[in-house]
Amino acid sequence: MRVDILTIFPGMFQGPLTESLINKAREKKLLDIRITDIRSFSKDKHRSVDDRPFGGGPGMLMKPDTVFDALSSAAGKLKKNPPRWPSVKKPLVIFMSPQGSVLDHALVEKLSEYRHLVLLCGHYEGVDERALKYVNQEISIGDYVLTGGELPAMVLIDAVSRFVPGVVKDPASVRGDSFFNGLLDYPHYTRPAKFKSMSVPSELLSGDHKLVERWRRDQSINNTKAKRPDLFKKYIKKHKNKGV
Ligand code: SAM
Repeated sequence: MRVDILTIFPGMFQGPLTESLINKAREKKLLDIRITDIRSFSKDKHRSVDDRPFGGGPGMLMKPDTVFDALSSAAGKLKKNPPRWPSVKKPLVIFMSPQGSVLDHALVEKLSEYRHLVLLCGHYEGVDERALKYVNQEISIGDYVLTGGELPAMVLIDAVSRFVPGVVKDPASVRGDSFFNGLLDYPHYTRPAKFKSMSVPSELLSGDHKLVERWRRDQSINNTKAKRPDLFKKYIKKHKNKGV
């Protein structure tokens, strides 16, 4: 998968994208992450990318021409008012925005089907609305406002990467994680078998795979019921006639 990040702070991506699984995936060429400094598309000698908002008010806005040029450099020819979900073979242009659809498991899975994501990171008060006519959609990482789109872009890349084949060594580990089947994960234990007078549940030490499986499933259900009753309700509704 190719991911283009358009940002005015390219240095922020050092670390999150150069360590751990993401770095390994980049080395193995499973992820081709390209970071572009939007300032390189500025038309003035000060490399400015922002200007004052028409109508007055606080803050600055990212200029439409600079953003448009940066978007085209990564995504190719742009169409005005493009579909929200183009063919997976086409670049999907995303504006990281608190006003977008909130990123969740289903959205992450859908994004992972695309071959090429283009992520626009906003700053200041945001981006001139006319440049946003060329993005496929806006995505938020939650109902709060951050100073810029860089951290949201990192969160999106990290979550989506886990669904790119080969990035996580054992696909069973992704399938067993919270949300994959609509439930939260079950509790995990490792050595030592006794820690501060707490023991590991006997089922996990039994060597009986069926028993372990059943225990984990029950724990998963109880965990979801206790920690995320909203999710549990949805799960029950979906599996109503399947004897859950
Ligand atoms: N005035 C904008 C609004 O209220 O919708 C907020 C601008 S915010 C200070 C600057 C930039 O940070 C945004 O353009 C966006 O790119 C990014 N950003 C802030 N919060 C975000 C969130 N929850 N999810 C995704 N991106 C976010």
